[in-house]
Amino acid sequence: MARVNENYLKLPGSYLFSEIARRVNQYKKENPDADIIRLGIGDVTQPLAPAVVEAMKKAVAEMGSPDTFRGYGPEQGYEFLIEQIIENDFRSRGVELAVDEVFISDGAKTDTANFQEIFGINNILAVSDPVYPVYVDSNVMAGRTGMVNDKGQFEKIVYLPCTEENGMKPPLPRTRVDMIYLCFPNNPTGMTISKEELKVWVDYARENRSVILFDAAYEAYIREEGVPHSIFEIEGAREVAVEFRSFSKTAGFTGTRCAYTIVPKEVKAYDSNDQAHSLNPMWLRRQTTKFNGVSYPVQAAAAATFTEEGKKQVREIIDYYMENARIIRKGLEEAGYKVFGGVNAPYIWLKTPGNMRSWDFFDKLMRQVHVVGTPGAGFGAHGEGYFRLTAFATRANTERAIERIRTRM
Ligand code: PLP
Repeated sequence: MARVNENYLKLPGSYLFSEIARRVNQYKKENPDADIIRLGIGDVTQPLAPAVVEAMKKAVAEMGSPDTFRGYGPEQGYEFLIEQIIENDFRSRGVELAVDEVFISDGAKTDTANFQEIFGINNILAVSDPVYPVYVDSNVMAGRTGMVNDKGQFEKIVYLPCTEENGMKPPLPRTRVDMIYLCFPNNPTGMTISKEELKVWVDYARENRSVILFDAAYEAYIREEGVPHSIFEIEGAREVAVEFRSFSKTAGFTGTRCAYTIVPKEVKAYDSNDQAHSLNPMWLRRQTTKFNGVSYPVQAAAAATFTEEGKKQVREIIDYYMENARIIRKGLEEAGYKVFGGVNAPYIWLKTPGNMRSWDFFDKLMRQVHVVGTPGAGFGAHGEGYFRLTAFATRANTERAIERIRTRM
């Protein structure tokens, strides 16, 4: 008899975005003329930059010619892309990386979900609350947690509440933890932390021999000085941190798929005899066994984001979304909402008026002004009473949505 992995049965049935889709579809069925504007799901709307499209076309043509055809590539990515990443995303900020410390992949979702595989099953993990759900769910599937309680929290996970009082910054855990997921700029709160604040985490990890899994998928949206773009800008981080990056939100690759993960050779975890093992060769072993690499045309397209033209075009797209973020923030503040984020991130996290429950606010916003966002409760117990709007819609839809909220909510 085949048995299932019972860890999967611990996961609550309805995933956040399917519940949102269900409610929107139901409402549209009852109100077919409703002109619904979506500021909910974190997908981009602007097309790929012309330099990226050109590079991809050229690479596809190469694949169609016997002289330039390429078969299986290196699972960890082509050096031409890795070198550009090191030069542009890290060396420019004073961070040195070796070519074999960068692993190209098809997504930060994939990597943040899979990286836990190379850690022991009894490790205790800490996550912010609210949190991007993938970190939690992938650890539940692996069996690193207990059951879920009625607040949606799993036994054996240490939740770090991000509240108005602590400026949406996760506090250090009160009990020892082994794996720490941090995400800055943050999804869903849109908040960042300073270098000094991040240093506190690096010091904690060094003292406790923990590993920080740092998700920097929104790094390109940082506008303010002093906000770290990479955890490796922090002294000592090479010993204790892994960093996830993505071309998804940086260059509109959500449908094209390219990302990368940095695993410095110094980062270690320990076996049951307290012997240290570098995570870099373990991740290489994992990827070469289970992953086939990203296709050549996609890696060539990603490399084009680092050409002069590509950089300029990508910058313009990010500026476009950040102008949306500014419009959302300003409009909501003028309408009397308390808002977080939206300054160094494409997410705006608002406090629901009168402590309204976040799913009730979702329904009210959809029914009253036909705007769809994401209820904070979907990101964790401490997301209750908050609501996420994204800056990824078109300018026209962003302006219309905010006007409706300002005038009719
Ligand atoms: N990490 C965070 C915090 C995200 O919000 C997302 C996407 O929404 C991802 C990772 C996934 O990125 P990718 O498209 O590279 O899988």
